[in-house]
Amino acid sequence: MYIVYLDESGTHTQARYFVLAGLAVFERETYFLAQSLDQLQSRYFPSETNPIEFHASSLRAPDERILPPFDKLTKEQRWTLIRDIYEVIAGSRIRLFGVAIEKASVDGDPYERAFEEIVNRFDRMLASIYRDSGDPQRGLVVIAESSYRENLEILASRIWSQGHRWGELHNMADIPYFAPAKSTRLLQLADFAANAIYGRYESGFAKDFDKIATRIHQEEGRLHGLVHRARDREGCYCPACVARRALHRPEEDS
Ligand SMILES: [Zn+2]
Repeated sequence: MYIVYLDESGTHTQARYFVLAGLAVFERETYFLAQSLDQLQSRYFPSETNPIEFHASSLRAPDERILPPFDKLTKEQRWTLIRDIYEVIAGSRIRLFGVAIEKASVDGDPYERAFEEIVNRFDRMLASIYRDSGDPQRGLVVIAESSYRENLEILASRIWSQGHRWGELHNMADIPYFAPAKSTRLLQLADFAANAIYGRYESGFAKDFDKIATRIHQEEGRLHGLVHRARDREGCYCPACVARRALHRPEEDS
């Protein structure tokens, strides 16, 4: 089974972009990823015995707004911890999905649109694993608990029973599950992925995004895991827009 862990970024009203990130992980790999974050906790917080919830925006907050336990770290330590967490993602076998939506470019709720995109792409990933290897894999969706839970439960029950705008789901083991980010390290990694994608599109801060971009889901050299929606994408050279243009290029141009 593959589990996709979802978390969002950019829900505050000042944000131009809304981002949903999904980390698809093979069931046997979740343990090792969780262990990597546990080891980072032991290194940075040697005296802390309870699990600390790693959260990207808490670590990036300005000095005067750093909350415990992150105030035990110097600014430099906080930056190296952020870097180390992105290295866990970069060095893993995670398949990354990301949807970045300029809010002004869509009618309706960007969360719903992004959720449909990721669930559809995750389902197609499972279908292609079956096609390529004959190995039938089921999928499970785990979502970080938030104020969106009720909306998503309604949307998910519609998608799970009637399909999404592009068709039906075929490979899901069960309905989506909601969990608090503090209780699973994998949702904490999804939070960091969402934060990196958000930084890339909202403010052009691409360092962390570039580090994890190699994990964006691809099939046969084509990028399937990243979606960028905006009013004007013509001048955009993000990996999603470059891939989209390459795919739609008229034959005379190729
Ligand atoms: Zn783009």
